[in-house]
Formats: sequence, structure tokens, C-alpha cells
Amino acid sequence: MGCGPFDPQGDGERFVSHGEHDETRVVAGGRRREWTGPIVNPPVYRASTILFDDCAALKAGAGRNADGEFHYGRRGTPTQWALAEALTELEPGAEGTMLFPSGVAAIAGALLSVLKSGDDLLMVDSVYEPTRAFCRQVLAPMGITTRFYDPLVGAGIADLIQPNTVAIFLESPGSLTFEVQDVPAITAIAKARGIVTLLDNTWATPLFFRAIGAGVDLTILSCTKYIVGHSDAMLGSVTATPERYRPLRRTAQLFGQHVSPDDAFLGSRGLRTLAVRLKAHQEGALAIARWLDGRSEVARVLHPALSSCPGHDVWARDFEGASGLFGFVLAGGDAGARAALIDGLRHFGIGYSWGGHESLALPVDPAAIRSATHWEAEGPLVRLHIGLEHPDDLIVDLEEGLARYRAAR
Ligand SMILES: *Cc1c(COP(=O)(O)O)cnc(C)c1O
Repeated sequence: MGCGPFDPQGDGERFVSHGEHDETRVVAGGRRREWTGPIVNPPVYRASTILFDDCAALKAGAGRNADGEFHYGRRGTPTQWALAEALTELEPGAEGTMLFPSGVAAIAGALLSVLKSGDDLLMVDSVYEPTRAFCRQVLAPMGITTRFYDPLVGAGIADLIQPNTVAIFLESPGSLTFEVQDVPAITAIAKARGIVTLLDNTWATPLFFRAIGAGVDLTILSCTKYIVGHSDAMLGSVTATPERYRPLRRTAQLFGQHVSPDDAFLGSRGLRTLAVRLKAHQEGALAIARWLDGRSEVARVLHPALSSCPGHDVWARDFEGASGLFGFVLAGGDAGARAALIDGLRHFGIGYSWGGHESLALPVDPAAIRSATHWEAEGPLVRLHIGLEHPDDLIVDLEEGLARYRAAR
């Protein structure tokens, strides 16, 4: 069905094809000529009603439900389709991407596209806490059991599989504690048993970890973080293999999931600079992690690129890079001493989320949200997101913070 100036049945002309470098793909992805016309970025197309030429066109469209076709606002416009397509292109082997209004909505949608009553889910113990809450408060009452496993289990996952285990959920590195999982070992076992794997890949993004290539079936991003990249919109995505894409899409549509074109636009706009931003986040975070590693006030730095991080060898084998989020354990002291450090920082904001251009510091306490493993540490834990400021300015700021911590300890 042809609608307005667009022809969704057009020949799909694009600026680049598959096989380019990531830097090129993030710049060009989703910018189909038939969606953008002569405009560089897909414009914000706001729509609820889509008008059809005549009754025959309306009737023909009703049964179709294809990607990238005008139907009704809930199914999106070129603004959302362009972002979804650009994200799909970053995961070779993927069939498609569904957008969600937040990362948590993406996690929920992905899980519900796989699980039904009576099923068993294996969930990594270092998972983002709201994912855990979803299992407990939504999946459990539906009759879906969740069993938590050690993030460092690797091929040992085989021993945990039951006859009704349908899915394994991974997050690597782990939220707050940064254990790097052996994703290929787990997906190989899952594939052999017909079990679906889902990965929260928010930390690495497809640029630093190719999830579908590593055998993952559904890869999830909180696009709120590095894709949007400027701390001003909430967005999530799930990119899936050919086998899992249709069920994912059906679930998202049945739940009425929809992303506003304004937020999709911000996601596309952020994506264009993802490659250069990630490099800068990586460089700054590594400089600061190494500096912290040499400080007597710091017991341990939890940064996947440092050998002190559990799973560091797996990171070195599997990842293309490290992003800007990591943690460090203080050498003794209590929450008050930690607050003395954090409260006086000039360049680090105190708040949830991360992935924006600005640095953040967060006090985190993982012990209470573990069930399969124990978190024990020499002192309180701080999570840092290193933004795009000059690392030297951040180091001066942290040095003053560590002096406040010493005084308060
Ligand atoms: C923030 C975050 C989410 C949730 O994303 P929202 O967009 O905030 O809903 C999921 N997973 C990880 C690892 C996150 O850091």
C-alpha cells in the first residue's frame, strides 16, 4: 500500500550495505531513501491515523502486518523503523528489532515472548535488580519458576538444566559487580538442548559485543544508556534471530508496545555518534580505573579490562572494548565514609542510569540482592560512569574525594 510520499514497497535504496565497519553502520543505518527522502536524519513523523487511498487498500492492509509498512500509528512510522533497522544492522545474523519504551519494558517483552506457565527460567545472579523483580512479581504468579545461577558458572550451566527449562537469561558484565560471563559456552549448551538465550547487552552495546554472533537468541539494550547517549530519553530494544523475531514482534504488538517518534528520533540521533562516544568513554574510564587501582584507599577495581575483575580473561577473549561503567571497592569504612567521598564530587552527578556525556557516581550495595552467590567485600562499593569530560579533571575530583573518605573513615 502506497501512503503519501513514501513507497514502502520501494526498492529499499540505502546509503550502505552490510559488511561495512561499525563506524560506518551507525552513521548510515536505517537511512533508507524512501524513509528520509533528501533529509539526513529520519524526521519525526507523528501519527495515530494513517489514511488509506480507498476501501480496497484498507482491506489489503488489514491482513498484512509487515515490517516497515504504514498501518496505524502504533505500528510506527519511518522514525521508529529507521532506528530499529539501524540496530538490526549492528547484529549480523539478526532478523529484526522491536523497540520498547524503556530497557525494562524490553526485558519484560523479551521474556514474555519466550515463557509460558509451567516453564523454568535460569537467571544470572548478578542481573539488573528490576529484572529480578519482574521474575518475582510477574513471572512467579504466572507459574514460571526462576532459578538464579552464578555469573561465573560457564559450561557448568549444563548441570542446572531441568526438563522444563526453557530459557537462560544472561547479563555480561553483571550489574553493579561486573562479572564477565562466558556467553559462548552457555549459548552452545543452550542450543544443543533447544533452550532460548537472552542477553542484556546494555554495557557493551553491539559495538563491543556481538551477541547474535555469540549464539544469543534475543539481545536486549537499554537504549536509554549509550544509544540515546545524552541522558534525555528512555528507550529499549530487543534484536532477535529469525526463529525468535516473530514471537517477539507478536508479543510486543499484543501488549501495545510503542515508542514515541520523538524518542526514536533521539535514539537515532544518538546512534550516529555511538562509535566515537564509546571510544572516548572507554579511554577515560580505563585511565581512571588504572589510577584508582594504584590507590591505597581502593581495595579492588571492578573493571572488565583489569585483571582484578572476575571474568577478565573472558572479556579479553570475547569483547571488542570496554565502556565507561565500572565499580571500585573501598578499603574499609562505612556508608558514611563513602558518602563523604561521593557527596563533594564536582564533576560526578549522583543519580540512576548512565551512558550519557556526563559522569556519575553511585553508592551501590549488591549483597542484599543476591540469592545464588554471596557478595563480600573489603568495604563499600562505588559505581562510576565516566562521561566525556577530560579524565584529568575527573581524577583531581576523585583525589579530593578519596581525601574526604580518609578523613571520614
Ligand atoms: C538501566 C538498565 C536497564 C533498564 O533500562 P531502562 O531504560 O532504565 O528501563 C536494564 N539493564 C541494564 C543493565 C541497565 O543498566
